[in-house]
Amino acid sequence: GSECNETSEKLSKIPKINFTKLFINGDFVEAVSGKTFDTIDPRTGEVIARIAEGDKEDIDLAVKAARHAFDHGKWPRMSGFERGRIMMKFADLIDEHVDELAGLDAIDAGKLFIPLKMGEIPAVADLFRYFAGAADKIHGETLKMSRELQGYTLLEPIGVAGLIIPWNFPSTMFSLKVAPALAAGCTMVVKPAEQTPLSALYYAHLAKLAGIPDGVLNVVTGFGHTAGAAISSHMDIDKVSFTGSTEVGRLIMQAAATSNLKHISLELGGKSPFIIFDDADVNTAVDLALNAVFYNKAKNNPTGEICVAGSRVFVQEGIYDEFVKQAVKRTKAWIVGDPFDSHVHQGPQVDKKQFERILYYIEQGKKEGATLLTGGNTCGEKGYYIEPTIFADVKDDMVIAKEEIFGPVMSLMKFKTVDEVIERANNTIYGLACGIVTNDLNLSNRVSRSIRAGVIWINCYFAFDRDCPYGGYKMSGFGRDNGLHALHKYLQVKSVVTPIYNSPW
Ligand code: ADP
Repeated sequence: GSECNETSEKLSKIPKINFTKLFINGDFVEAVSGKTFDTIDPRTGEVIARIAEGDKEDIDLAVKAARHAFDHGKWPRMSGFERGRIMMKFADLIDEHVDELAGLDAIDAGKLFIPLKMGEIPAVADLFRYFAGAADKIHGETLKMSRELQGYTLLEPIGVAGLIIPWNFPSTMFSLKVAPALAAGCTMVVKPAEQTPLSALYYAHLAKLAGIPDGVLNVVTGFGHTAGAAISSHMDIDKVSFTGSTEVGRLIMQAAATSNLKHISLELGGKSPFIIFDDADVNTAVDLALNAVFYNKAKNNPTGEICVAGSRVFVQEGIYDEFVKQAVKRTKAWIVGDPFDSHVHQGPQVDKKQFERILYYIEQGKKEGATLLTGGNTCGEKGYYIEPTIFADVKDDMVIAKEEIFGPVMSLMKFKTVDEVIERANNTIYGLACGIVTNDLNLSNRVSRSIRAGVIWINCYFAFDRDCPYGGYKMSGFGRDNGLHALHKYLQVKSVVTPIYNSPW
């Protein structure tokens, strides 16, 4: 590989790793088997810590604790207001420990420290506040019955939730699942990704300090095919919320179907189109497109490891050449390096497997005849660093245009007409997001309504907001994170009917 950019200013010390065991029923405990696994620093490929390796027996213990806390404990029975107050306290503790939490995700996932500290972790605290505010506003409806009956609905917590999360946003994903589940009054077992277990254990510690009762929030670290699979097939878990690959989403749905028909929601892969029309300002369009694929200045992932990445960039023919020129120029100025350095734009990929997978796709792009405009190499002597990469002349049926790469690889495609680009943009098994760049209101309205995806970003990208539902169409899954839609994933509806005037029924 080529040289990684030399960097100087280190921002923070690596945090001390205090929590490496499973968190079950309010205590940190070893796995039943006594086994551990290594979590790796993607900057160097070296071991950060040995983490307790939970498996089926540990999931059983965690579910037992969660079941007891749900069936007999205070959490589902206390007032929503009281739950909200405890969640607010949890949020304050997250803010107070922002350096530790940002440091843990930076070292474990290779994410940039400053965006974690300034953006992602504070947003996690705020998401807990958002759902804390909803906890005392959960109510059903008075029904308009057709006969002499009084009917109303109750919204009740669904029970024990299994929350399986991926490594690309360890903190955000934790909060997207845990915050609405807590607000609803559920108890839960969280399985963080094996690549990034550190911050979830730290959140568990803070949850206990905040006063969340024992057994309500359990964290079992371990692998997908063991601990994860034990969650999806468990007979005593009422709901699974999963974010990850489409392939694993399918396994989870099968396991739910063949066990207890637990409710599920899935947030899966994507291959989102980013469409730039002729009237767009090229500078702005390039900024947005680079942002949509490689990184996000404000607060997101600096490695392209994001399921909504706008990785198919369609550029209208009138500005195509100018767009390509500027995109390449700006990408070459990217600084790839240590995520603790404030000058760096892009850190390492999360692990060796992901690193190799991205390099495979880059090779595939070259083989199938796409034009490699910049990047394509690894960089640095050690660690999992890859240059931001742009391919032009990408055809719709090439592998790099169809499959999710989950890395800093942009595929550029030229188009002529609106109808053509709508059809091509929709020609995917996925439907997570879509970006549109134009100043023509009628055009953006028309395209927004024609694209089959869960989120449309016009003249922006990654514009997440806690009140804005987020989730997929088609094989990108179903169910929404963020917003009150997320709360309803952890609730179920009960109808209560009584006769009016004591009339006999
Ligand atoms: P990625 O391909 O992005 O690593 P995965 O879908 O493999 O995403 O992983 C996302 C989460 O799902 C992780 O916590 C992982 O351990 C878990 N997981 C993987 N395989 C399974 C499985 N068969 N059943 C349940 N969970 C799984």
